[in-house]
Parts: sequence; structure tokens; C-alpha cells
Amino acid sequence: MLTIRCAKCKTKLFKYKKIGQGQVLRCYKDRIEPLEMIIKNGSLLCVCKNVVGIEMDSHFKMKTHQFIYTGRKENS
Ligand SMILES: [Zn+2]
Repeated sequence: MLTIRCAKCKTKLFKYKKIGQGQVLRCYKDRIEPLEMIIKNGSLLCVCKNVVGIEMDSHFKMKTHQFIYTGRKENS
């Protein structure tokens, strides 16, 4: 499980079950456990208003430099 944080203020946004060892480019909604995330006007925001992703139907398209993460990716 990964913990996704805002790159600017380090707030924990959500936990994410990442399948596979690749980059975190998309976060699928059904694998997210929300902590402090805000979804507004098609964007995924931190409480500090930093935009960390764009909302799509099934997932968020993540903005590479706007978040950091810790934890382990699951093997597929
Ligand atoms: Zn923030």
C-alpha cells in the first residue's frame, strides 16, 4: 500500500493500492482510501489547494511533481 502526500505541504492525501512496480501515473478510484483529498471541478486537490491530479471516469491522472509517496507497490 502506498501513502500519497502533497509535494508542497506533505499532507497525507490518500492511501493507494498500487499494482505493479511501474511509475504512479494513474490512481484508480476503486483502489483509493481517501484521507484528506478534495475533488473539485474535475481536479484532485490537497487542502493547501495544490492540484495533484485530474479526475477521469475511472481514475485520477496524476501530476508527477505535485505529489510524493511512501510504502510498497504490490506485485501484479
Ligand atoms: Zn498540500
